[in-house]
Amino acid sequence: MKLVLLGPPGAGKGTQSIELSREYKIPHISTGDILRESVKRGAPLGLKAKSYMDKGALVPDEVVTGIVVERLKEPDAKSGYILDGFPRTLVQAEDLDEALKKIGSGIDMVVYFETSDKIAIERLSGRRVCRSCGFNYHVKNIPPKKEGVCDKCNGALFQRPDDKEETVIKRLKVYEDQTKPLVDFYAKKGILEKVSGDLGVEDLFKVLSKIFADAKLR
Ligand code: AMP
Repeated sequence: MKLVLLGPPGAGKGTQSIELSREYKIPHISTGDILRESVKRGAPLGLKAKSYMDKGALVPDEVVTGIVVERLKEPDAKSGYILDGFPRTLVQAEDLDEALKKIGSGIDMVVYFETSDKIAIERLSGRRVCRSCGFNYHVKNIPPKKEGVCDKCNGALFQRPDDKEETVIKRLKVYEDQTKPLVDFYAKKGILEKVSGDLGVEDLFKVLSKIFADAKLR
């Protein structure tokens, strides 16, 4: 199945993507992860993207769309994928449509994670990420066994620079202005499903599994 997960930062798209990717055996394609990896490697793309990311602003459309179009050509994306954090603007959504049309493909479903600001802020400001394996924790909701240390690989946990409170508020505003209009865009195409991003990880996974089963997506 070819999925887009849409919703504000802190909606749980990344966490659900990891579970869904495992369950349905399709790749999880997160533009945020790809960009962070380029920053870490000091690649030219990362150098270009970093200043936008640290401010909580969006990286220019052509840069991000280029990354995704290339990624979707990989053999593992032939039978399906989960796009997490892309598209984030109407231009990206239209360019994605065009690129998919050219290869006779299209998105099956867009799942909108409707999430309250209060929950999103609480999740993002408490998030801690493993520097080695990228696993996400939360100081209250998903604490590691030992503070500051990853349960899976013993890597050091850190707070993403863009998870600081003032940047989180900026990211939510950017979402409201630039990404939220995609809800209407995909609703008009008849492929939008709405879920509550305020649900806990396991409850939301159950809701999603039922939606995909009812839609006979696999
Ligand atoms: P995320 O991990 O999805 O919250 O993304 C982290 C940051 O990467 C965002 O705040 C943006 O600066 C950048 N980014 C990720 N995806 C996109 C996108 N589709 N368009 C523009 N910028 C993006």
